[in-house]
Amino acid sequence: MPHGMESESRKLLGRLREALGSDREGQARLNQVVDLIAGSMQTEVCSIYLFRDPETLELCATKGLEPESVHKTRMRLGEGLVGRTARSRVAVNTADAPSEKGFRYMPETGEERYPSFCGVPIQRLGDVLGVLVVQSKNARLFTADEVYALEIVAMVLAEMTELGAFVGEGAALMARHQQPVLFRGSIAQEGASEGTVFLHEPRVVVTNPISDDPDVELKRLREGVETLRKTVDTMLTGARTADADQIEVLEAYRMFANSSSWVKRMEADVESGLSAEAAVEKEQSMARARLSKAGDAYMRERLSDLDDLSNRLLRILTGQGADARAEIPENPILVARNIGPGELLEYGKALKGIVLSEGSVGSHATIVARAWAIPLVINASGITREALNGDVILVDGEQGVAHLRPDDNVHAAFRDKLAMQTRAQERYASIRDLPAQARCGSVVSLHMNAGLMADLPSLEGSGAEGVGLFRTELQFLIRNQMPRRSELSALYSRVIEAANGRRVNFRTLDIGSDKVLTYMKPNDEPNPAMGWRAIRVGLDKPGVLRMQLQAFIRAANGGPLTLMFPFVTQLSEFRSAKAEFEKAIQREDKLGHPLPSSVEVGAMLETPSLGFAPDAFFEEVDFISIGGNDLKQFFFAADRENERVRRRYDTLDVSFLSFLEMLVERCSKANVPLSFCGEDAGRPIEALCFAALGLRSLSMRPASVGPVKHVLRRVDLTEVKAIMDKSAAKGEQSPRRAVSDWLVYQV
Ligand code: PEP
Ligand code: MG
Repeated sequence: MPHGMESESRKLLGRLREALGSDREGQARLNQVVDLIAGSMQTEVCSIYLFRDPETLELCATKGLEPESVHKTRMRLGEGLVGRTARSRVAVNTADAPSEKGFRYMPETGEERYPSFCGVPIQRLGDVLGVLVVQSKNARLFTADEVYALEIVAMVLAEMTELGAFVGEGAALMARHQQPVLFRGSIAQEGASEGTVFLHEPRVVVTNPISDDPDVELKRLREGVETLRKTVDTMLTGARTADADQIEVLEAYRMFANSSSWVKRMEADVESGLSAEAAVEKEQSMARARLSKAGDAYMRERLSDLDDLSNRLLRILTGQGADARAEIPENPILVARNIGPGELLEYGKALKGIVLSEGSVGSHATIVARAWAIPLVINASGITREALNGDVILVDGEQGVAHLRPDDNVHAAFRDKLAMQTRAQERYASIRDLPAQARCGSVVSLHMNAGLMADLPSLEGSGAEGVGLFRTELQFLIRNQMPRRSELSALYSRVIEAANGRRVNFRTLDIGSDKVLTYMKPNDEPNPAMGWRAIRVGLDKPGVLRMQLQAFIRAANGGPLTLMFPFVTQLSEFRSAKAEFEKAIQREDKLGHPLPSSVEVGAMLETPSLGFAPDAFFEEVDFISIGGNDLKQFFFAADRENERVRRRYDTLDVSFLSFLEMLVERCSKANVPLSFCGEDAGRPIEALCFAALGLRSLSMRPASVGPVKHVLRRVDLTEVKAIMDKSAAKGEQSPRRAVSDWLVYQV
């Protein structure tokens, strides 16, 4: 920028600092700010619009428009040029506002007299707080330097808004981070809890957006960047022994840290009067605005690298490093953009709930949260910007919502809900040691799903008979390198030991689809759920499968062993997998290791095809476990990861039930034990219907064992079956309604 402009912007910032430093009340400060900007930019109008709520912008101060319109003129996000600036998060600059797309005439402001319009978003780290607008009578485009100067000022305004500089009595300006906010996300793990916000990445607070001395700030910035580069170099040296992929990622990271254009832009910001921290934030905001629009996956990744680097640099500059992380409060509810399973494991089971602004139902963190039955809401967009450490928060996993700083009514209703849940838990505890025996005498065995050592204690508390599904991939997912055989066998033997004689059904590695190992070469597949996954990988590249099979045998240490293969779609796959197991037995025998006292080798039925396999399959397999999550997605052709379709089809749809019924018949004819271990087994109505069809073994999350047992003990399964048949005879799509209505009358 030309030198003259630079010192202009610096002068303006100097005056702004004085205005902001005064002990005036919020509204008076805002008024002074618009006066200063209009004077300095030589425009007739300068206005500040701030968000009242996430959808509505309100004119909060103006120089030049009708003063009566302040706090009266409002527009929705996207509406008019101001709304467009907020939505697009980039400057809107025009010499002919009335003919611009989206222009909205607001008579109360008298603005039709001003054809020139320039609006810039007031944003902080990609979070748009409002819009700063200048307008003038003289029909002209604002120059790039003027727009830049406005962006600099907007940056300072964003920081001051965040710090509450414009909150005041009389002004209709609410302090940020104080109102109740409801976040609607998606359901990832049911359950409800009340607690205190614990931010995974605490907000960095910048208290000095305007620099006292640009030279000092430049020096600080350069030193900060230098430290950052050294940190990245150290990370890279540390990763030298790791695999090539990780190094590649870090190399890209270093390239950014060394990028001279990034640093130059920040230096220019500092020269215009911003402090080093504010300059980093300004560039970070710009990158986040671009990130939200980037369609290209490569571009998105690079921009998020830059975001990450900016965070590191901010922590270096402010000294608010990782050790500044707040102490974990009582009843912590973790709030984060996203979180890896390793980090989640570090926090441990102490967490009362988790709310993520991103995340997905199949992510590893979700898997861990589910395994631990921690209520989890994902896609709660914007929560990391709004929540502060220490805020009260209510997580409702059933509804997929989080109430931040709830008002008294919401809080009271929520407490009632929690109390009801506690009463239900007490009821379940009283039947923990009783069998899940229905009134007709049929007994259903209930098992739990697990995947981590930390899950095993639940075996005792839940009343499950054993582990019906042990997802071995979790151990692989939470590491950053392939575990060794000795580590695996040690882990599996600890699992067997902790199960204390109860059956543990180990499933061999189920990777691919949504479960991607960072240390394995990624496969760019058009549709990974139907791609190279689970037993397909195991058979094509048997190294890992063999290692795992050996580890199981060693862990059994002469005791019984049960294992199953995931995603078997045809007889030949089962035969090949079983042949691998037999080879492993022979190998271990030769090596002199004790062989298991008894062995059961099963298959997971997760595609419809296996249901129609030749009789030989049912004769050769020792047991079958229905992986309902996958089976359902293939049966209905509805991606289990896709929010739009994943709940579209009812598990109790007659067509799905008749498929299950066929499986029950085929298994009973061949005398093969059949169980169901998908999520649906843990839902009481589903469990009832499955049992009524003849399924006698269900495996579920530990927290579901109590509710399922409770409901099974209340009913006669032949009656449930009669209701299902009647509903089908009536031509109903699903017996869900009929069964739930009937259940209400069963005491
Ligand atoms: C299933 O598909 O139902 C299952 C139990 O396996 P996962 O959820 O691990 O794919
Ligand atoms: Mg599956």
